[in-house]
Amino acid sequence: MSEPNIFLINVMKKFEDVCDQIKLDPAIRIILSQPKNEIIVNFPVLMDNGEYKLFKGYRIQHNNILGPYKGGIRYHEDVKLDEVKALAMLMTIKCALAGLPLGGGKGGIKFNPRDYSAEEIKRITRRFTHALGNNIGPDYDIPAPDMGTNGQTMAWMMDTYMNTRDQTQRHNVRGVVTGKPVECGGTVGRNSATGTGVFMCIEEWAKENDFNLTRAKFSVQGFGNVGSWTAVRLAEKGAKLVAVNDHTGSLVNPDGIDVFALRDYVAKNGGMKGFANLPMTSRDDFFKTKVDILVPAALENQITEYEANLLEAKLIAEGANGPTSPEADAILAERGIDIIPDVLANSGGVIVSYFEWIQNKTANYWVEEQVHNELKRIITSAYLEVVNYSRKNNTDMRSACFAKAINTLTAVYQQRGIFP
Ligand code: NAD
Repeated sequence: MSEPNIFLINVMKKFEDVCDQIKLDPAIRIILSQPKNEIIVNFPVLMDNGEYKLFKGYRIQHNNILGPYKGGIRYHEDVKLDEVKALAMLMTIKCALAGLPLGGGKGGIKFNPRDYSAEEIKRITRRFTHALGNNIGPDYDIPAPDMGTNGQTMAWMMDTYMNTRDQTQRHNVRGVVTGKPVECGGTVGRNSATGTGVFMCIEEWAKENDFNLTRAKFSVQGFGNVGSWTAVRLAEKGAKLVAVNDHTGSLVNPDGIDVFALRDYVAKNGGMKGFANLPMTSRDDFFKTKVDILVPAALENQITEYEANLLEAKLIAEGANGPTSPEADAILAERGIDIIPDVLANSGGVIVSYFEWIQNKTANYWVEEQVHNELKRIITSAYLEVVNYSRKNNTDMRSACFAKAINTLTAVYQQRGIFP
């Protein structure tokens, strides 16, 4: 028996607590408590040294009552079934909360992409896509980038999928993945979308709390896609990055860290170790650094009771999925530290993925301003609705997100009925 996965336990605890609070119909509760489909594929891939290696990939399809399954593909050495199940459930909640006609899914392959050449990663991606076969599709299940994957990964997935379709249908299936490079049918603004969405939520919080972002100090854990774009947006507003942590260690500088130079450095070197000759320091030093805003944008379960007691911040804006444990949530609430929960804060990625999917369907491509304005409209209204719900029902922001999303799903189940 494998060990129970703490992330899945945490997500299920929040789900069960909210179901009790809103007195959810037991039939809908049992449907949502498990994914609809759990797909596991084992597939061989040719390595550069001429040998074959077997990889294990997952695709979890949690729920599709609102629309096709939607969610990222993660490449990481710790990927496991229960982790992907937790992430897929969060996608169902996220899409429902943002009011998108999409369901929830997630996938991944258990391996560390840093240990493989670009050619090997290409072959792993193509073989995985082929192994998934008809389990994905532009009107059925639509993957996107997540940790360890990017636009290039999506271009390989799209190309593999297109080439396995009838040649007269190939251009109709571009929307099988989102987060593609613009040249391959992606949308402008997708690469920066998640970080921009995190920033838009922070701006709403600042307005509500009469807080001046221009003088804010912030820290970021994870300087990949989400962390770096959130940092860029905050720096553009005049806020100062004073601490960063990634898989290579931590940097702390009270005078400020140049976000743009760090972004270029990480793009070239794969991590921030060695940046500007700054000394590396401990993970505890990162969390102890006094800031106004802390943005976790790496892995799940990073803020547990220990870090919740250590950190000094006014706001935690969750760029990552599942970074805060329920025990930490309780401590942060007691300490008066606000949280913008993951399913709201990082929903900019899936919102702009939705725009990409629309553009692929209509073959009508948007300009950046349209993407920006529509993202702002959707994420801001989701933010304000969650704040209103939480005030009206005297509940925390995370419970409000889950409750609102589950109520949306429930309305559809009640109107359609449960088949047959
Ligand atoms: P990424 O691969 O671009 O970057 C991941 C970052 O996390 C890197 O900087 C890496 O150094 C850091 N990291 C990895 N292990 C770490 C560790 N043990 N300690 C500290 N840092 C560590 O990934 P990303 O796409 O930016 O995703 C980050 C998080 O945001 C994930 O939780 C992901 O699910 C979530 N997310 C991503 C998107 C998206 O559009 N990419 C959308 C929504 C949510």
